Amino acid sequence: MIVMQPGAAEDEVEAVRERLATTGVHVVVLPGKLTTAIGAIGDPAGVTELGLEGMAGVDRVVPISRPYKLASSELSHHEPSSFDIAGRTVGGGETFCLIAGPCTVESRGQTLAVAEAVQAGGASMLRGGAFKPRTSPFAFKGMGEEALEILVEAREQTGLPIVTELLDVQHADAIGQVADLVQIGARNMQNYALLEVAGRLGKPVLLKRGLSSSLDELLMAADYILKEGTEEVILCERGIRTFETATRFTLDLGAIPWLKLHTHLPIVVDPSHASGDRQLVEPLSRGAAAVGADGVLVEVHSDPEHARCDGPQSLHAADFAAYAARVAAHAQLLGKRLA
Ligand code: PEP
Ligand code: MN
Repeated sequence: MIVMQPGAAEDEVEAVRERLATTGVHVVVLPGKLTTAIGAIGDPAGVTELGLEGMAGVDRVVPISRPYKLASSELSHHEPSSFDIAGRTVGGGETFCLIAGPCTVESRGQTLAVAEAVQAGGASMLRGGAFKPRTSPFAFKGMGEEALEILVEAREQTGLPIVTELLDVQHADAIGQVADLVQIGARNMQNYALLEVAGRLGKPVLLKRGLSSSLDELLMAADYILKEGTEEVILCERGIRTFETATRFTLDLGAIPWLKLHTHLPIVVDPSHASGDRQLVEPLSRGAAAVGADGVLVEVHSDPEHARCDGPQSLHAADFAAYAARVAAHAQLLGKRLA
């Protein structure tokens, strides 16, 4: 919508109309008492490049359509999408996914023990980092390819599909061969080259919200993956940076119902990285289920006190089953069963 200045001359309105017409959009001139507005109906991409703001008589250009396209709920006529990951249904409003496991694969014993515990407790998938994004370059960065082999063994032993992070394009083949669900970490949400590579792996992608990213930016990042041809993208709210420092990040639970209105993609919540504190993980998980999330991504460790990464926020493996039952009860209030 192009809003003209009050008193804009007729030939100025005509000049805008003519320039818009060059892009092939349908143009409607709406004369008003004070100002004239000009509606441009069609693909807005060409219109933004016309430089209309600089034309004589133009007051402002107001975008009406959303900046994200493929992720938009308009595309699916407001029907939520759902898909299957190794027999687990994600999205669609009837299932709730418990994606659980250690922050990082640290050893075969630790990973298999956690995998057994979360499988017995009703988990839908096993998470575990092989290549880790660490704030300090001197921190443990994961076991790499060896971790992928351990995850495969854990899948064989438990039947749980595995979720692991694609940190860098150089690991794309290795991750693509192993993962059932490819995670893009918060720090890489706007690594557009990586998003395109992830979208070409032929695997579903779990896209985490950036530490300081708006929801519009999250959905445009999802568009980068979707445009490569995959339809299977899951969004993840994992807490954002705010002035509040009592918790590691601030979990934006309001994002869940907002995203449900604006995108057809499934949404899960990561209460572990959001809070940084095991004691907050269950209440935030129950909250996530109550506001309509399609699942949670939660860190669990067999010995959190000695974890090499994110121990304070990891649930004890022995507590997982009771935690899962209480979270599932909240999901059930919304008519969802565990995936
Ligand atoms: C993770 O899930 O292991 C992780 C590193 O999370 P984030 O990218 O959200 O910080
Ligand atoms: Mn972690």
